[in-house]
Amino acid sequence: MVPDATADGAVIELDDVRKIYRMGTEDVPALAGVSVRFRRGSFWAIMGPSGSGKSTMLNLLGCLDRPTSGTYRLHGEDVGRLSDDALSELRLRRLGFIFQSFNLIPQLTVRENIELPLYYLGWEAPAAAERARELADRVGLGNRLAHRPTELSGGQQQRVAIARALANDPDILMADEPTGNLDSATGDQIMELLRELNGQGKTIVMVTHEPDIAAHASHRLHMRDGRVEQVEGEGS
Ligand code: ADP
Repeated sequence: MVPDATADGAVIELDDVRKIYRMGTEDVPALAGVSVRFRRGSFWAIMGPSGSGKSTMLNLLGCLDRPTSGTYRLHGEDVGRLSDDALSELRLRRLGFIFQSFNLIPQLTVRENIELPLYYLGWEAPAAAERARELADRVGLGNRLAHRPTELSGGQQQRVAIARALANDPDILMADEPTGNLDSATGDQIMELLRELNGQGKTIVMVTHEPDIAAHASHRLHMRDGRVEQVEGEGS
């Protein structure tokens, strides 16, 4: 069992985190010493120009990669010390992921897509089906359970992806340009849904390069050249 958040409510703590990629004989510092703390229940937008380190940051925060040096604590636990299996387990149980291109499985129905993480968690079919129904209702797609992703609009597909990300009841949602493939009105509706989930206690970390989208977050982290250039928001 992983420990809970640290005493001051920080669920994510980065201390002088660096990520160096080796390209031939050259070292590329994708992250060049990042120190930040995200509190439980906050909503962060990570912003910055292309190449500033946003994706590298999200990969680290989502436990898909480890820092080259420095410390990343998630719920007080030093992620850099965990084995690959422990990292997978952490992702499966504690994190939810939302992507720009939705990443739904086209051959599966809405219900089956939402159920997928539950099977990895060992849920029995009837309980998983019931949970998928609840989650589809929660994102406004209770009447689309038997549809396949190609029969849905982009906004509806992102709702299914959000329902899937919620299946394991994660306390943190990681979103990579979640509105990047949507028109602005649909994007705003997706942001409303994310805000609602944030209001229900989910910590959200979202990468975006769109200021209008970032404005929905409670905090904005501006990156440049692998460093934090500016932090905006209350109590950060
Ligand atoms: P952003 O998401 O803000 O566009 P990235 O995190 O993708 O930025 O990249 C930050 C820097 O690290 C860039 O200079 C990029 O070229 C480099 N980089 C990212 N991933 C790799 C990799 N796998 N190998 C080598 N260099 C990488």
